[in-house]
Amino acid sequence: MDYNKDFNLILNSLDDAIIIVDSENKILYQNSYSEKIFSNNFSGLPISNLVRDPIILESYQNVIRTKENHAVIFVASNFIDNLDIRENIFDVSIRYVDNADDFFIIITLKNITIQRNIERMRTDFIANVSHELKTPMSTIIGFLETINSTAIDDKEAQKKFIDIISREANRMSRLIEDLLVISRIESNEHIFPTSRVDIYKLINQVKQNLMKSAMEKSIKINVNTFEGELFILGNEDELVQVFTNLFENSIKYANQGSAITANYRLENSNVVDNNQTKLVKSTFTVIEIIDQSEGIPEKHISRLTERFYRIDAGRSREVGGTGLGLTIVKHILNKHRASLDIASKVGVGSVFTVKFPSALVK
Ligand code: ADP
Repeated sequence: MDYNKDFNLILNSLDDAIIIVDSENKILYQNSYSEKIFSNNFSGLPISNLVRDPIILESYQNVIRTKENHAVIFVASNFIDNLDIRENIFDVSIRYVDNADDFFIIITLKNITIQRNIERMRTDFIANVSHELKTPMSTIIGFLETINSTAIDDKEAQKKFIDIISREANRMSRLIEDLLVISRIESNEHIFPTSRVDIYKLINQVKQNLMKSAMEKSIKINVNTFEGELFILGNEDELVQVFTNLFENSIKYANQGSAITANYRLENSNVVDNNQTKLVKSTFTVIEIIDQSEGIPEKHISRLTERFYRIDAGRSREVGGTGLGLTIVKHILNKHRASLDIASKVGVGSVFTVKFPSALVK
């Protein structure tokens, strides 16, 4: 067994960068991941040729002086690991290794970009939720105080303010309801639902449930017929939620007196089989919801399923939106291994295409 060769292979297969420096500040060894981060191999050259970051270099000097290990954060701005992120964050650890009357310094860099992004998303989410709840809560408190002071004898003003309080309380309730739905789906997102769902019947049921709000805007919902019955594998309640959210959005953002159309089709595509070895034919169930509205400018489309992302927050609130409808749709579809595609033309309208991986035609 050639230990040198094997150690090299092992160190090169690590997802952490390793740099070993001798007591004369020369690089003795660099593994492949470190070459990727610093875009070169500098073996035999001084450490300062490789690492230019002043914080790491200062820490490195400290470690030599104090013989105590140090850890710092380093931000690299090149693309690494094909992560579509401009900045990569590393946890850098610098260790002093005593070797008889000599020493080595081992520098390791661990990529913590993904963990950092998750932490940031969590903090942003908490900030967003607090903000979304705080706004209606402030309104409620403000009007309650008014009713209890300046408007204490004014029945007419009281009625108006109570209506506002009721609207804001409903907004908070919708928001909490949506948050609970997200947390419920997130907790079992990995479990694939296996009930047989008649998707054609389900969409017609959603259409019936929304007839009242469609009629208020004189909107016509056309669900095109499908020959025979169309079943997919899914969770009925969750799929009702998906199509309710999509139809509700189409009603909320569509033009007065316009039409919403739901189309179905079966689509045959080649997919990679379970063993990832060959392409096999598979039938997908595709459902399109087409609306007529001002449309969605291209730059917003890829972000619409993000939590609280809204093109126009004021308008969304006005029509009772929470900014979580499409997030819920995306989570439920992920769970069903289904996809959502959004296409839109400004001034014409949008097409929301849902594609389920299974089609069970009875
Ligand atoms: P909201 O509760 O604000 O409707 P959603 O997550 O359902 O939140 O949608 C996010 C945003 O996407 C909306 O605020 C709106 O700007 C836009 N949007 C969603 N559906 C449509 C649609 N059918 N037509 C135009 N814009 C839409």
